[in-house]
Amino acid sequence: MHPRNRHQDRYDFTQLTRELPALKPFVVRTPDGQASIDFGDPNSVRMLNRALMQSQYGIAGWQFPAGYLCPPIPGRADYLHGLADLLAQDNGGTIPRGRAIRALDIGTGASCIYPLLGHVDYGWSFVGTEIDSAALASAAAIVSSNPGLDVALELRLQNDPGLILKGVVQAGERFDLTLCNPPFHASAAEAAQGSARKWQNLGRGSSAKSRPARNFGGHAHELWCRGGELAFVRRLISESAELAASACWFTSLIANGAHLAPLKQQIHKAGAHSQSIAMTQGQKQSRFLAWSFLDAGQRQAWRVERWSAAGA
Ligand code: SAH
Repeated sequence: MHPRNRHQDRYDFTQLTRELPALKPFVVRTPDGQASIDFGDPNSVRMLNRALMQSQYGIAGWQFPAGYLCPPIPGRADYLHGLADLLAQDNGGTIPRGRAIRALDIGTGASCIYPLLGHVDYGWSFVGTEIDSAALASAAAIVSSNPGLDVALELRLQNDPGLILKGVVQAGERFDLTLCNPPFHASAAEAAQGSARKWQNLGRGSSAKSRPARNFGGHAHELWCRGGELAFVRRLISESAELAASACWFTSLIANGAHLAPLKQQIHKAGAHSQSIAMTQGQKQSRFLAWSFLDAGQRQAWRVERWSAAGA
């Protein structure tokens, strides 16, 4: 876990249930007497994460319709800390903070997780995009439950599911970074299989009866797109080349490490340079890929023009 991640220690269930009494009925005792929840039960996982958002980030009303993906917060937070380090590279080692730093979250989901965490931890402002209007409405409801968030968090509907940046990035608009947790699977069947595997890993057995459709939630279209992660990020890279001046850094999570080499090759062909940044949570290895069409000198000019003036 990133050293700035707020979730290094065991969950403090006494504090969490004080903050959100609705979590109480979901708390269980482990064989060694520790308080915990049933991580195989989607309702328990959602309630725990809601309590974490409230107690650790001061975000009230973090809830979304049943069936939507419930993001595990510690892992999502690591991507943002990695992004903060990336921006610090161009800023003499200091993380630029405050609303002048603008990020574009592609596929923000019903939970609006990245804009919320990024705003609370670094004060950045965000534009979140979605192709799913119900997810976007849910994200908007969370924003409006928290007074003052609406000035920093804006949501935009992507009307064409075939597009990623085009249609949501406005002419002349500039972002300091873009981020994305792309749909991973290549088909709905593959997405369902992935969930079944997770369920088995949690020791729930494989009988169709004992297994919910997707134990961590998630509508089919959230979890898959034609061609899966590789095709989605390929599209993102080719659109970024057409809108090269719109962001200092374009980034995406890459769940499958084997996708890095072909994507880096595409980035270099498009005339950008790339970095991949590794992240570790427990046994799990993940990474994000970052690319920029600006060289170091151009990024310095970007910093002076956009960040220094704003005291970021
Ligand atoms: N950011 C959230 C959700 C990730 S799931 C999280 O990390 O938990 C991927 C999301 O991307 C889904 O909500 C899906 O609806 C959305 N999506 C898929 N294609 C998209 C596109 N072209 N533009 C914007 N969002 C898209």
